[in-house]
Amino acid sequence: MDFLEILGRMGISEQQMSFMILITLLAIPAIMLFLVIFIIIGLAKTAYHKNHIKIQRGRVLNNHESKLPYELKSSLLTEREQKFFKILFPVVTKYNLMIAVKPRLADFIESNPPHNYKKISHKHVDFLICDKTMKPLMAIELDDSTHHTAERVKRDKFVDWVYETVGLHVVHIYEYSYDLLDNHIMLRLTECQYCNGFLLLRQKGDNYFCGCSNFPHSCDSTTLQLDDAKRLYKSQEPF
Ligand SMILES: [Zn+2]
Repeated sequence: MDFLEILGRMGISEQQMSFMILITLLAIPAIMLFLVIFIIIGLAKTAYHKNHIKIQRGRVLNNHESKLPYELKSSLLTEREQKFFKILFPVVTKYNLMIAVKPRLADFIESNPPHNYKKISHKHVDFLICDKTMKPLMAIELDDSTHHTAERVKRDKFVDWVYETVGLHVVHIYEYSYDLLDNHIMLRLTECQYCNGFLLLRQKGDNYFCGCSNFPHSCDSTTLQLDDAKRLYKSQEPF
């Protein structure tokens, strides 16, 4: 029995068979061509990507070229924050304390009930001074000109209210010096003579003096001089 006879028995005419062979002969090169194009595109993409990374590493990328989706910043801090940190760091280490840089409020403040979490989840404090167990002691907001915008004022008002609610002392700083930061931190570590509060720096005109953190709620200690406060300060245990 020959091949044509088998086809005849299967109900396939010679004409149909020729058509099928023709289609097959055309399909094979088409598939091959598709595969070749697919491989060439794949290789071209890989080569471009490798070359692109080399360009990025060599720092010769210009603005007209596309960038990688992520890039390492040169510092965690802005230029202004770096200048401030340079002064703050020796003060904080002098008192055996720690600095957390830009933690989210949600990292150190519990939300009750949990849906309040959303309101603080994207807000950060510039610097958080902590004791050696990383217990938060004092928040520092380094204010700049943006703090006068309506949106920023609203944000600061809410955040200050959160700090007050949780009993975290916050200091807003615009202009600063080593001595000013030293006084803020030393007083935070100094207990009030009359209650369980601590001392904080108050200002009247150009004069600085100390007051209790519980003033005016449960303590009326407001007029301690800085030199007297320094005598009350008890040094912190080192690590
Ligand atoms: Zn007091």
